[in-house]
Amino acid sequence: MPVDVKLHEVKIPIRALKLASLYEIRSDGFVGLVDSGMSESSVKMLEASGMKVEDIDLLMLTHLHVDHVGGALAIQEMSGCRVAMGEHDYRILRDIAEDPDAFKARYVKRALEYGFPSDLETSITRGLPFDSNARRLLDLKVDITIVQDGRLNSDLTYMTVPGHSPGSVAFIVEGQGLLFSGDHVLERITPNIGVYEEKQDMLGEYLESLDRVKGKGFRVCLPGHGRPFAGVDERVAEIKEHHSLRLKEIEESCTDWSSAYTVASRIIWNRGRHLSDMNEMERNFAFGEALSHLIHLSRTERVARKEFDGIIKFRKEEP
Ligand SMILES: [Zn+2]
Ligand SMILES: [Zn+2]
Repeated sequence: MPVDVKLHEVKIPIRALKLASLYEIRSDGFVGLVDSGMSESSVKMLEASGMKVEDIDLLMLTHLHVDHVGGALAIQEMSGCRVAMGEHDYRILRDIAEDPDAFKARYVKRALEYGFPSDLETSITRGLPFDSNARRLLDLKVDITIVQDGRLNSDLTYMTVPGHSPGSVAFIVEGQGLLFSGDHVLERITPNIGVYEEKQDMLGEYLESLDRVKGKGFRVCLPGHGRPFAGVDERVAEIKEHHSLRLKEIEESCTDWSSAYTVASRIIWNRGRHLSDMNEMERNFAFGEALSHLIHLSRTERVARKEFDGIIKFRKEEP
């Protein structure tokens, strides 16, 4: 029996994105929803666009970012649905919810270690879910925690795609070649790759996860932002090319021992922008992006890494 998919776009208060894409999936009496928008107001918009929220059997969360999980609790409370998400992302969410202050302190400490200026300390956590709302997430019941590829029912499978977040998951309707990619593959934006736990080479994992979805014969990519599009393999090739150029640029910019923040300030970012032209949130993203590239370069021995008075710095390896 063919699976019916309907796109619901809801407004989100993130300037660079504006909308989040939620997907209603129906087959043989089953009603699934991919992602939940940013908040309870996303849920209201979902209903206004024709989705009967109380009908939902299963909510599939692609990753932990607030523009994807923010409406989850409201949806579960209204429908009693089961929830599936990556185990690693769920663990991080619980960590934040149980002790937002401790999580925030670790986060700030790491940013400072990698050269984030201490006079900007308060800005590094702007836009992250450390406020009192975070505790509400403890009420979300996640029934299916995903650690490896698997199956939900006769139509739906899932694949782990760590990188954009440690526990990112893509959902799949195999019979119809549909890939619900979350923020793993987007059509017009290169997904942001930040750093979650210092030991993880998130960019390395991301590049491997791009290979995981390539050559699988997916006909349509249904992303977490934007409309469904064809040509998954071509888009994956473009994103890989982007990172390979950026890795080279960042490697070349480490002519002397430089912190991740210094490197971020030397790079010309998308649309010719400099760190000094950016607002706080954009600057935090650029810093995270520089750092994830530096960690990957240091793991692959293209740059050396050394601590100077508590600040970690990188320098291009001499050939
Ligand atoms: Zn995201
Ligand atoms: Zn997103």
